[in-house]
Amino acid sequence: MIPVAIIGGGWAGLAAAVELSSAGIPVTLFESAKQLGGRARSVDWNGLAIDNGQHLMVGAYSETLRLMSRLGTLNSLDRRALDLRVPGFRLTLPRLPAPLHLAAGLLAARGLSAKEKKSAVDFMQALKRCGYRLERDIAVSVLLDQQRQPANLVARLWEPLCVAALNTPLDAASAQVFCNVLRDSLAGSRADSDLVFNRSELGALFPDAAETFITRHGGSVHLGVKVDVLRHAASGYRLDGPDRNAGKVIVAVHPARLPAVLGDLPKLAATLEAVAGYAWQPILTLWLRFDQAIPLPFPMLGLGPGQAPWVFDRNDQAPGLLSIVISAEGPHLSMPPEALRERCLALLRAEIGPLPTLRDWKIITEKRATFACTPGMYRPDNRTDLPGLYLAGDYTEAAYPATLEGAVRSGVKCARLLMDSL
Ligand SMILES: Cc1cc2nc3c(=O)[nH]c(=O)nc-3n(C[C@H](O)[C@H](O)[C@H](O)COP(=O)(O)OP(=O)(O)OC[C@H]3O[C@@H](n4cnc5c(N)ncnc54)[C@H](O)[C@@H]3O)c2cc1C
Repeated sequence: MIPVAIIGGGWAGLAAAVELSSAGIPVTLFESAKQLGGRARSVDWNGLAIDNGQHLMVGAYSETLRLMSRLGTLNSLDRRALDLRVPGFRLTLPRLPAPLHLAAGLLAARGLSAKEKKSAVDFMQALKRCGYRLERDIAVSVLLDQQRQPANLVARLWEPLCVAALNTPLDAASAQVFCNVLRDSLAGSRADSDLVFNRSELGALFPDAAETFITRHGGSVHLGVKVDVLRHAASGYRLDGPDRNAGKVIVAVHPARLPAVLGDLPKLAATLEAVAGYAWQPILTLWLRFDQAIPLPFPMLGLGPGQAPWVFDRNDQAPGLLSIVISAEGPHLSMPPEALRERCLALLRAEIGPLPTLRDWKIITEKRATFACTPGMYRPDNRTDLPGLYLAGDYTEAAYPATLEGAVRSGVKCARLLMDSL
């Protein structure tokens, strides 16, 4: 009998495992893929390790940064004061105490008229007055309309922020979760609003270091082992697939996989039915490898307003490496790959000038990158109606969109609930 089993080795399952291991509770983790990391993992590209998709963190990712500090990987991060650069627009936050830094930053933003700047400040103050809590969740576009936010301000600031953070188009995105994101990042302390870039590939940043930590603390990690179904057993649960029994289980799979894993537990039928109503949003990353380094003026540059791509400087990983990200659904998904590459190269040239020779390129589209973060959507609790069974994953962290921080927080919470039950 395994005392504690974790199903799923994405960032949620790994966070739970690291937290339990730190408390002296060894875990047995089963991951169906041949590698750890789930939706935030490394991918081999002709011998070069790249990310399955460009990821960005912010200073407010307190739990993610705490666990990375424990794993000793913080030195792979590049932390910068917030600097949002979109063609014709720039927002930086001055060194002033919060919340003055935000008001001063918005009033000094480049590319906005005096009226637009005032609208932005008024909007943030209105949110602060209501404690960033809306009476009823609505679409972000409706909230921005109600708050009379001018079109140019929406296109340069609010839409790029919403699409990047919630990975959901403005008309469909949850205004309440957007308010939570603004509260914790833009309106948080200066440190919370910092942008945090990974300089090495994602695998090295968390999953690989977590595996070493788990095994060093007496636990074990089983790759390529899928848990088909979880069933009740005499004391605890039976894991079909690895064919092992476990006293306590943290289920940390992608929400689309829940029906398969939990389908034999009638008490969870209502949760499964609600999660079955989720819709998904993609993220597309175009990797470009030039024949010489192209240092960008800042590690992340917007290439246009609204839902336009962002380019990231990955020269630290390999000279000449850049990634270009396009969040959420849109017409780019039906473009032929070569046409999409040419469009991105044209946007990049317009922003930084002539480019060196392109040696290689690769598009990775994650179709179910995140759940569509829509108004009032159901988010299950980490605790289930069954003793010793917990749910971890970005979808359980109600205050957040699908993010690394949401996943890590959910894992840490499950670990603590489990420890409390011992
Ligand atoms: C391209 C892309 C870009 C993103 N950009 C950002 C970003 O910039 N910032 C940010 O904060 N977040 C970003 N995200 C979101 C972030 O990656 C996710 O929110 C997070 O990784 C989810 O982690 P998770 O552990 O909850 O789920 P998952 O990563 O889905 O982990 C679930 C794991 O369970 C395993 N599994 C499934 N079924 C079974 C089974 N039956 N048995 C055993 N194992 C199983 C899976 O293989 C997987 O490893 C991005 C996501 C993608 C895809």
